Amino acid sequence: MGITDADLPGSAAALDDLRSGFEGPLLLPADEGYDEVRAIWNGMHDRRPALIARCRSTADIAAAVRFARAAGLPATVRGGGHNVAGTAVDDDAVMIDLSLLRTVTVDPQARLARAEGGSLLKDVDTATAAHGLACPAGVVGHTGLGGLALGGGYGWLTRKWGLTCDHIVQAELVLADGSVVQATDESHPDLMRALRGGIGNFAVVAAFTLELRPVGPLSYRSALYPMEDAPAVLRAFRSFTEKQSDDLRVFGAFQELGHDESVPAALRGRQALDLAVVCSADDPESLAQSAQLLDAVPAAGYFEQTMSYYELQARLDASGPAGRRYFTKTCYLADLADGTIEQLVEAARRNPSRLSSIDVEFLRGAITEGTGRPSAFPHRDAAYLCTAWAAWLDPEQDEANVAWSRGTMAALSPWQTAGSYGNYVPEDESAAPAGDAWLAEVKERYDPENLFRGRRNVVPAV
Ligand SMILES: Cc1cc2nc3c(=O)[nH]c(=O)nc-3n(C[C@H](O)[C@H](O)[C@H](O)COP(=O)(O)OP(=O)(O)OC[C@H]3O[C@@H](n4cnc5c(N)ncnc54)[C@H](O)[C@@H]3O)c2cc1C
Repeated sequence: MGITDADLPGSAAALDDLRSGFEGPLLLPADEGYDEVRAIWNGMHDRRPALIARCRSTADIAAAVRFARAAGLPATVRGGGHNVAGTAVDDDAVMIDLSLLRTVTVDPQARLARAEGGSLLKDVDTATAAHGLACPAGVVGHTGLGGLALGGGYGWLTRKWGLTCDHIVQAELVLADGSVVQATDESHPDLMRALRGGIGNFAVVAAFTLELRPVGPLSYRSALYPMEDAPAVLRAFRSFTEKQSDDLRVFGAFQELGHDESVPAALRGRQALDLAVVCSADDPESLAQSAQLLDAVPAAGYFEQTMSYYELQARLDASGPAGRRYFTKTCYLADLADGTIEQLVEAARRNPSRLSSIDVEFLRGAITEGTGRPSAFPHRDAAYLCTAWAAWLDPEQDEANVAWSRGTMAALSPWQTAGSYGNYVPEDESAAPAGDAWLAEVKERYDPENLFRGRRNVVPAV
């Protein structure tokens, strides 16, 4: 079924304009495919946009933006659709869907990649791996580059090289007035700074130009510990971070283990602490550090493999499948105090779902230093990031799982530092850097009518 003027009352002329020359599909609620495309990663969100504009080009994005303005409707942007708060889609808004725009091209000499705004991390990894290069980004290949990069972007390489947002060199943007600009730090210094960690909402990024880094073989080692040993392991981790090389990233997760052969028999089906360390496979000092940490407390099982960055990035592709119910609460910690460790272990024991986890990671390194490019990312000095990822299947369990995630973070409140990582916050919290008047001014300059708003927003200053 095609679009009819009656479907969007009051916007017939704007709709005619949009129809003429739009290359991708335009979907209204009655159209085939509408329900599929409005569905995002988090099955908790069931929102019905007024129109979905499936863009196939920058010109399509500009046309969709002009339509939303003319129709007086807010616009949301869908990148990979992975934001836990579901900010890519809203009721009665125009959804500017970039998921058909995933082409990534690489200039290996210049060490740059151009990635279209709907690219997933695996699209970037696939294109860059062929040249022994990578852009530091998140750890799950099906995550969208757009939201991740605009909000910061932590991953295996970020302690060594910096956040994903720090690697944005240039951006092809569609502004709220429908104009297209190639923004650089020279041409649009304020906008570029806002795009780096300011949580989006300033413009649609039709394509990112990203700086790439050389990446060789990596060592992935992990160890599994029973809950009774978890406090000792986290205390060893705490001491270790004081001398941890920036080449190493350590990631701890409390989660219920499966029943497969690779899991030590004593831990099958039980809650445990999984500590993973990634570092360069050809750096003896890093390898020695990694062994030192994992051997500090004898583990129930070890895993070790040397792999390419591409293989490492693909390791978690089966995790966190789309359509389940998810809720996350997150916080930064200045230290892993004994009280924090106690609360983490308690919360893991109370975990109501075998699909949920509590993640703990040490940050700092190049995340603190940045790459010298101006950014709006506000959490440079944070030491630890801790996140309660609740995941479950049954809607009747919503309350119990949301309460567990919230309760886990509430129990850590005595040790939390200010702010939360915007890419992990739930819909009832502000993801934008708190009270940042400068960001509000940039928003006012580029989107005074607040076209790009959805459910979470940097509000224009005036
Ligand atoms: C399974 C999973 C693993 C994750 N792992 C990590 C991780 O390792 N590290 C980490 O830092 N984060 C991680 N995240 C969090 C992730 O950074 C956020 O969920 C992020 O919002 C995902 O971006 P997206 O494009 O998929 O999301 P979407 O929901 O599509 O978009 C999120 C917001 O970004 C904006 N946006 C997206 N693309 C564009 C664009 N091209 N132009 C303008 N605005 C845009 C939209 O307005 C939207 O409001 C993970 C999330 C999931 C679900």
